[in-house]
Amino acid sequence: MQKTTKFTRQKRQFLAALVAASGSFIVGVFLPMDMWTGRAKSVNKPSEVNAAINTSNAAVETSQIDKNVLQEIVKIKPAVATKVKASENALTTLELKRFNFAIPRRFHGTVVKDLKLTGKDKYIALTFDDGPWPKTTEMILDTLKENDIKATFFVVGQHLKERPELAPKIVDGGHVLANHTWNHPTYKMGKERVESEVGRTAELIYELTGMTTTLFRPPGGVLNNGLADFVKNRKHVVVMWSADSVDWHYMSAKEITNNVVRRATNGGIVLLHDGGGPRMHVVKALPQIIERLRKQGYKFVTVPELLEIKDRELNKQEKQKTGTS
Ligand SMILES: [Zn+2]
Repeated sequence: MQKTTKFTRQKRQFLAALVAASGSFIVGVFLPMDMWTGRAKSVNKPSEVNAAINTSNAAVETSQIDKNVLQEIVKIKPAVATKVKASENALTTLELKRFNFAIPRRFHGTVVKDLKLTGKDKYIALTFDDGPWPKTTEMILDTLKENDIKATFFVVGQHLKERPELAPKIVDGGHVLANHTWNHPTYKMGKERVESEVGRTAELIYELTGMTTTLFRPPGGVLNNGLADFVKNRKHVVVMWSADSVDWHYMSAKEITNNVVRRATNGGIVLLHDGGGPRMHVVKALPQIIERLRKQGYKFVTVPELLEIKDRELNKQEKQKTGTS
């Protein structure tokens, strides 16, 4: 029952956005048309008076009206074009929001840990696991917003079910929602359990945001309990990490900041937790982590963006290789 309601709400939101987009198109086209008619009428009136006095004068006025009308059309044309373009852009944005993370083909069905970028620019991806969680997830979202940073959130299905309102909030902030199973199991599982751990969370993310995800992080980083193999077969990306904050063990902001900064690399993936337990030390550490990594020249990107950057780098290298051989 709940399922249907959520999906219907999602559909309704999409329809409302569509109506809004077409609304702006209609206003763009018909408002200037109305202005144009009004203008034409006001020009027409004095010509009718003139006609009663002097017919030859009226003929001159008529050709003047045609000229005015033409001028008006010329003026309106760019306005209409602008409105049409705006409506098109609104629709494209909607489409992108629904299918926003296309992963480069070379990473389908692989495990990624450290993308080892070699370019001049330094990129790093912050990832947050085990949420969404009361208070801490929203505080982390606030810090990210203040710093204009996009991150990747690997959510646990049963936690998301408790706080469904946080899913659109994460996505609307420009962040990426990804799959971290339903119950966070680390032990070996049968096929059915594996399917439901991955499937239920993916379904809930779709119901709440209208988006599908092919990014998966195995709980505890365990790669041999059936989960990683299952998602790899489905061409998902298994996202591990290269800079562990160890925030589940160290409870001081200073210590976890040092852990991240010490382990940061170009193309690295930082592991932090916004949920699954008390995470106020993570909230406290985040501004320091951002500040110190920024000082070292790092730019913050989402995991799909990091994969995209690596893909471009590899494409370039491959092209150079075939060019020289
Ligand atoms: Zn976890």
